[in-house]
Amino acid sequence: MIPAVMPTYDRKDVAFERGEGSYLYAADGRRFLDYTSGIAVNNLGHCHPTVVKALQEQAARLWHTSNLYRIAHGERLAQRLVENSFADTMFFSNSGAEAIEGGIKLVRKYQYVNGRPQRYKIICFDQAFHGRTGAALAATGNEKYLQGFGPRAPGFVHVPLNNTNVVRDAIDDETAAILVEPIQGEGGVRPGSGEFLRALRQICDEFGLLLFFDEIQCGFGRTGKLWAYEWFDVKPDVMAVAKGIGNGFPLGAFMATEKAAAGMVFGTHGSTYGGNPLGTAVGNAVLDVMLAPGFFAGVRERIGYFRPKLEALVARHPKVLAEVRGTGFITGLRCVVPSADMVNALFERQMLTVGAGDNVVRIYPSLVATREDLDHGLAIIDDACRALAGAANG
Ligand SMILES: *Cc1c(COP(=O)(O)O)cnc(C)c1O
Repeated sequence: MIPAVMPTYDRKDVAFERGEGSYLYAADGRRFLDYTSGIAVNNLGHCHPTVVKALQEQAARLWHTSNLYRIAHGERLAQRLVENSFADTMFFSNSGAEAIEGGIKLVRKYQYVNGRPQRYKIICFDQAFHGRTGAALAATGNEKYLQGFGPRAPGFVHVPLNNTNVVRDAIDDETAAILVEPIQGEGGVRPGSGEFLRALRQICDEFGLLLFFDEIQCGFGRTGKLWAYEWFDVKPDVMAVAKGIGNGFPLGAFMATEKAAAGMVFGTHGSTYGGNPLGTAVGNAVLDVMLAPGFFAGVRERIGYFRPKLEALVARHPKVLAEVRGTGFITGLRCVVPSADMVNALFERQMLTVGAGDNVVRIYPSLVATREDLDHGLAIIDDACRALAGAANG
């Protein structure tokens, strides 16, 4: 019999009832170290006091009014995001996929209002992930996810990451934009090179295309700065964010320059919940923590502590681990053994991780994980590697 919850996930048989910092507590009393962070969502750990307080206070005051009226928390959050990014303006959604959908509308409308209505195609990359809704799924381009769902939304062209020549060759009179994750998450924690991302900027300027970054997974501090693009010295015209923006409260946004948003006038887009008082109160609390002086310096200090030790584990266990992928706290361990075996071995040791493409296990501690939390994780990975190496030998 089909379960009441539609069985689209292969769930681990554990249910958590409480979270605190880097740890989750199961109903049966077991404590798990969380290096999934809700898939790059709980960037401030579980139940961060600043975020809990903001949610509780707002919950007792006002949840939702619709976007027919001004929303003070939303205006403030948008202002702060704009002041701390390339963007001049933004629109709130409830999820990442919706932020991508909005960005897709925006780039097409930009070409339309600039006298190039034939431009609708978006160049995307192999192993990308942009979400599970219609256009976002076509942008994702993964055959496994598309199969059986009827004709795919037209206008998405896929090329390999980090190869500028094929990008140039893929451009035609109908191209509107290039959509890229500066660091691919689901695809296997695969970074775009700085050289490549800067070349995309140049190509977009040359051909009148918009550069659209998906920082839904790599943004909100994962790299040790608020935005991943800050490391690459390149600015997009449009960017989708979500995940870490609400630390677990469903919220997303697409952000744009004034020029890119030229077509997004009254009536062109909307959302019932998007940016409601409850969600944006939480978003502001997340920024209160992240924008506090010294926050990212602290994150980078912890990253600096963690990374060499993670590299050392790979060197110590060549039969199990092949390399460390990514940067900051958006890292992956590419495995020699099947990555699912590693995820399971860690789970048996009460540590939570999630796999990704390319046989990678994602290592996503919270940005506020203490040295003890990091040492704990490293010790568990070391132990799991010993066991898996033993099994491989036997
Ligand atoms: C998770 C993710 C999405 C989709 O976000 P949802 O909130 O699940 O719709 C899109 N792009 C990237 C890079 C993601 O990691």
